[in-house]
Amino acid sequence: MNKFIYFDNNATTRMDDKVVQAMLPFLTEFYTNPSALYAASSIPKKAIEQARIDVATLVNATPSEIIFTGCGTEADNTAIHSAIECYPNKRHIVISACEHPAVTKFVEYLEKKGYFVTRLLPTKDGIISPQTVAQVIRPDTALVSVMAANNETGVINPIYHIGDIVKKAGVLYHVDATQAIGKIPIDFRRTNADYMAFSAHKYHGPKGVGVLVVRKGTCYAPLLRGGGQENDCRAGTENVAGIVGTGMASRLAYEGLPLMADIQAMRDMIQHQIKLMFGPNVIILGESVPRTPNTLMVALKNINARTLQDALSNNGIMVGVGSACSCLKNPKPSPTVVAMGVPKDYQLGTLRISLSRFNLPKEKALQDVSHLLSTLSQL
Ligand code: PLP
Repeated sequence: MNKFIYFDNNATTRMDDKVVQAMLPFLTEFYTNPSALYAASSIPKKAIEQARIDVATLVNATPSEIIFTGCGTEADNTAIHSAIECYPNKRHIVISACEHPAVTKFVEYLEKKGYFVTRLLPTKDGIISPQTVAQVIRPDTALVSVMAANNETGVINPIYHIGDIVKKAGVLYHVDATQAIGKIPIDFRRTNADYMAFSAHKYHGPKGVGVLVVRKGTCYAPLLRGGGQENDCRAGTENVAGIVGTGMASRLAYEGLPLMADIQAMRDMIQHQIKLMFGPNVIILGESVPRTPNTLMVALKNINARTLQDALSNNGIMVGVGSACSCLKNPKPSPTVVAMGVPKDYQLGTLRISLSRFNLPKEKALQDVSHLLSTLSQL
């Protein structure tokens, strides 16, 4: 059991014991290279294909559309890379201003190489409106990339509606679903997306396994070239245990979605108490729009969230902060918080509390929440 109270599940999650159990034989007994043609490799090979089916089922894709990568960042990078390789004459990329660095940093790199980038500003609630997407698409747009849910605020974007618009315009569409998978149902078919990325460690799977879903028929260019693994789509000897763990995590996520109602009730209770405690000195980011049920981002007036994070940590409570630079002396607000137009005196006070099914059951949740709230009030 944890020696600390963990409220930072958007950063990473605890692996489910069933995931660990599923992985163990592939770290010990069934260690042969799945590409080998001898009999001993048939078990790891089959296990990878079963995991592909489980992951595809979770997001309503077909198994042949699933590519396993080394992390969510690689899946995001590969989607963008693929789009620009497929359409070398199209030099314009549209992203939201709230994307994760796995998208923004790669696009910044492309910008330095001469690409044009449009960054869509969200509404004050943090949503990317489909109309703003429609307004910026140009004949030379290679890709539109919008995240399904934001990692800091949990705000859910209208990815299905945006997908309709992007598809009508005949442009490639990428959805970073890393913070949505396991928290809300995601239907790849309905998104109209060409590419969709996510990461196993965000939903109780292992670290170091990402997933890129590529729509059947979509042009694809690999980022990693080498051996013929993943049907020539991603070179490198497969992380068999990690992939098997991702399959199990996907199965558990599929079955575990109903638990999200309890998690949301806990989130709402913390939110309510923090509002009572801080009154006009707190803003709840994305309060009036759909958010992932586990996520609460608060912005506190004239407070450095890093200092508060340290103090909470000294009391055994782990939470996230929203600042882009985590240094104590010269903190910078997160681009998402700035893009949402949060007043300056609240921008550095963004604390993120993100829950998971391991914060349950209710009795334990109540104890942990009351410890969080009493520590906050003392601080
Ligand atoms: N995209 C989003 C929205 C994320 O929150 C993260 C991780 O924090 C990533 C991508 C990157 O995933 P990974 O850590 O597996 O590279």
